[in-house]
Amino acid sequence: GENPLAVTPRKSSDGANEMSLTGVRKFIHLPLSSSTKSALKECKFKEMTAIQRATLPHALCGRDVLGAAKTGSGKTLAYVIPLVELLWRKKWGRQDGVGGIVISPTRELAIQIFQCLTRVGARHSMSAGLLIGGKDVSEEANRVNKMNILVCTPGRLLQHMDETPLFDCVGLQMLVLDEADRMLDLGFAKTLNAIIENLPKKRQTLLFSATQTKSVKDLARLGLKDPEYLSVHAES
Ligand code: ADP
Ligand code: MG
Repeated sequence: GENPLAVTPRKSSDGANEMSLTGVRKFIHLPLSSSTKSALKECKFKEMTAIQRATLPHALCGRDVLGAAKTGSGKTLAYVIPLVELLWRKKWGRQDGVGGIVISPTRELAIQIFQCLTRVGARHSMSAGLLIGGKDVSEEANRVNKMNILVCTPGRLLQHMDETPLFDCVGLQMLVLDEADRMLDLGFAKTLNAIIENLPKKRQTLLFSATQTKSVKDLARLGLKDPEYLSVHAES
């Protein structure tokens, strides 16, 4: 089983909202769009995992979150759901350009994230695309601005920022950094810093990691605003 969570509740004006979500265990009891609720039902996702219970109430309230939990604990849904919900609430459509970016350390992981995103977003009208290299960069460049959500590897995203003339993230609403610890282990710190410098500051940022190292916290200081630090520990 999973341990109780290390959650430090925040005293804030929206405390009432937060309290009403504390202890919620099922997706159906979260304030989600009916499109997302039916997609989750079709995927047979009912009970939230510990990291989802800890982070979703904060992320759905619009806060920046640093979430740490071991591999296999369900971190993907902990950011895919808030991302889809944010763009849905803003009535994001094809003509609105890039509204969300998810950065992952490897192409293989990016493909898995993309699959989760297309399942959760199946009943929504927003579009999503992969920017992971392996394909012709000009082929990607042609569709980069038609996508509302981009799932990317760091190098390829920065390459488009530098080289694709019409690529534009000025409307970005949410940035997700997945497996932040692994991205730093793979030497992507500089690339991530350069990407973050190119992004609008007024956005929500979610950072997920299997571990909370000092370098992950340094990256969080750079990219996140007054984040909630939520960490779920395996029972020892
Ligand atoms: P992590 O990113 O923490 O390693 P994943 O997001 O890849 O974990 O999820 C691991 C597995 O658990 C996936 O197969 C996913 O479909 C499944 N999963 C995630 N959340 C739930 C849930 N609430 N209920 C049932 N299965 C879930
Ligand atoms: Mg993961």
